[in-house]
Amino acid sequence: MALIGHRCSCGHNDINHATDADGKRACTAKAGAPCGKRCKTLGDPEVMPTFDRKGNRVERIIPPGEGLPTETGSTGTRTCPCDACQALYEQLAPAA
Ligand SMILES: [Zn+2]
Ligand SMILES: [Zn+2]
Ligand SMILES: [Zn+2]
Repeated sequence: MALIGHRCSCGHNDINHATDADGKRACTAKAGAPCGKRCKTLGDPEVMPTFDRKGNRVERIIPPGEGLPTETGSTGTRTCPCDACQALYEQLAPAA
């Protein structure tokens, strides 16, 4: 799989962040804890490769706003659904 997301100013990407109840983005890259750098700006969306459980690269792109399948089956993380991500996805996704 691949997913579309933004790289944060801290250097990590969307799926390394969680939004708390106040709507504040917090980095969770250090095993759930913030990496310590400032999280401020987001760059343009980019495609980030993801890997299946065996480490094989999988080419399917997760549609913007869809949850990521996780080992635990939880649906905590979703890909960014903003217009820029949607546009990039439509560019890349094979025409249905
Ligand atoms: Zn970070
Ligand atoms: Zn960050
Ligand atoms: Zn986005």
